[in-house]
Amino acid sequence: MKTNCIFCKIVKGEIPAVKIFEDEKYFAFLDMNPINSGHTLLIPKKHTEYLFDLNDNEYSELMLKAKHLAKLLKNKLAPKRVGIAVEGFFIPHAHIHIVPLNEGNELNPERAKPMSKDELNKLAKKILK
Ligand SMILES: [Zn+2]
Repeated sequence: MKTNCIFCKIVKGEIPAVKIFEDEKYFAFLDMNPINSGHTLLIPKKHTEYLFDLNDNEYSELMLKAKHLAKLLKNKLAPKRVGIAVEGFFIPHAHIHIVPLNEGNELNPERAKPMSKDELNKLAKKILK
């Protein structure tokens, strides 16, 4: 693990994040600058810079976790759809954006707005209830 990687620090609990899911190998938390309410980031715990550098097994597992999380968000927040996106220019630790969507063109990083920790915690309670 890279010591200066924000996502590795989140996994280790050194930087707080509002967790939605965790198992042995993967971790998901609410984005603090969501495109839409419920915008979640799913990451492998193992530091891997580029999504497509994951081995086939890890990549498949990660995509299946994304599917489960998308279903969870759909059930609890009732958006029309849930979309996923991967860019990875800003934080060099593989991550998948899982975003509740109600219209086309919403999956646009320029729409991201900060959400308070209070709002994020309330949202997590709603999702995990
Ligand atoms: Zn990392």
